[in-house]
Amino acid sequence: MTDANLFSRLAATVREPGRPAIERPGRPAMTYGDLLDGTARLANRLVRLGLRPGDRVAVQAEKSVEALLLYLAVVRAGGVYLPLNTAYTLPELAYFLGDAEPGIVVCDPGRRDGVAGIAGPVGATVETLGPGGEGSLLDGLDREPADFATVPRAGDDLAAILYTSGTTGRSKGAMLTHDNLVSNALTLIDVWRFNAADVLIHALPIYHTHGLFVASNVVLFAGARMIFPARFDAAEVLALMDRATTLMGVPTFYVRLLQQPGLGRETTAGMRLFVSGSAPLLADTHREWQARTGHAILERYGMTETGMNTSNPYEGDRVPGAVGFPLPGVSLRIADPETGAPLPSGEIGMIEVKGPNVFTGYWRMPEKTAAEFRPDGYFVTGDLGLVDERGYVHIVGRGKDLIITGGFNVYPKEIEAEIDAIPGVVESAVIGVPHADFGEAVTAVVVLAPGAAVDEAAVLGALAGRLARFKQPKRVVFVDDLPRNTMGKVQKAVLRDTCASLYGAPAPR
Ligand code: AMP
Repeated sequence: MTDANLFSRLAATVREPGRPAIERPGRPAMTYGDLLDGTARLANRLVRLGLRPGDRVAVQAEKSVEALLLYLAVVRAGGVYLPLNTAYTLPELAYFLGDAEPGIVVCDPGRRDGVAGIAGPVGATVETLGPGGEGSLLDGLDREPADFATVPRAGDDLAAILYTSGTTGRSKGAMLTHDNLVSNALTLIDVWRFNAADVLIHALPIYHTHGLFVASNVVLFAGARMIFPARFDAAEVLALMDRATTLMGVPTFYVRLLQQPGLGRETTAGMRLFVSGSAPLLADTHREWQARTGHAILERYGMTETGMNTSNPYEGDRVPGAVGFPLPGVSLRIADPETGAPLPSGEIGMIEVKGPNVFTGYWRMPEKTAAEFRPDGYFVTGDLGLVDERGYVHIVGRGKDLIITGGFNVYPKEIEAEIDAIPGVVESAVIGVPHADFGEAVTAVVVLAPGAAVDEAAVLGALAGRLARFKQPKRVVFVDDLPRNTMGKVQKAVLRDTCASLYGAPAPR
């Protein structure tokens, strides 16, 4: 077997070990050489903790350089990296651990006891990693050997499992292979012209495909450098632009940066590329950004299951409101959502994709996997869109009723189930309502039983300990009945219309 381990391929690109890879506040930058040594020590530690090739390592840790090293070390040791949103509550974590059955769980030191309680039953070892690199995982790491023979992997072996929200309330683990991740990174380096001179402002979380794979893999495979703030802060990111060349963000980043009076041609003069994705960038935001800075934001489209699928061109028109062309090697078609029959150019239908970037299926869910792939291998994305006469892909809606708030996906069903369980609630519908800051705000429409004494605060209070903060509704609206069509389906479009101005934001394009 030729070794196709992502880490081996990354290590093979390192020509100058002394070059900085990741900047760390208050400490010298981590170089590519440090990255090779650090992952070796960590891989040795993981193996001593019992990691065998193919084992999952679940990680719920704050963003840090060490957490990124952990991802690479798991992959290097032949393990399967399983990042978890830091906002997930213990009941949510319990589901992921039960489903993925990791051998090792890494969590924040402050959560050790709670996590140990749910990791025990699945037989997982618990280690801790804090935002400053503290915790049991790295204790005495210097004593581990700084060399490690990377475990050979086939291209279709798993490198990571990333959970997506499930329409049925159950999250699905998207299984991503070494080839999926490497092919996408190399393609993006090429189409976005990344090279060793680039400096990326990496202000994204690293438990999601955008920050973990798009941003980090692209930078590392290009031999470039990243500045690594723990979270996005508009003023800080703006200040970093004078020593960076690129930024990757969700639309919320750009909306917030536009609120900074200092943003202008001068402050962005050294930047060569602004990329946006994970949610629709309003055409207005695109235009306003271009007017203020002279840069056209490059919007691209992807998802956890596929990595990146399309991108506006590096050279050529970056069209506001469009997500560009299929990436090299990616086949994209628009099909009738029901029959799968291909539709002609200009017609709206289901976006389907095929290519080396597309995942191999959902972890332990063969039926769900089969249901989302066509017999000829195309993956049904769940996004509705069209291809215009120039070949640009436009996304017009989300077939699965997904809400995207501040770049995070929220599937209404999960929130509805929690609300419906509150005594006095008859039923509920959760929708996304336009919001200037978040793009969409999670909004609950609730029907109460006659005489029930439940108000907005009671609903929000009941959800607080149950759901991650980003999933909690921003507002709760009470109605007598939910609007339904003749098939008995709740008409969410009607609700979205009635609630459209709840947050005073303009209607989406
Ligand atoms: P995730 O799996 O969290 O990356 O979310 C993927 C979903 O985000 C896609 O299926 C789309 O619905 C949406 N998405 C990603 N990028 C864009 C974009 N540029 N425009 C509109 N929607 C997007």
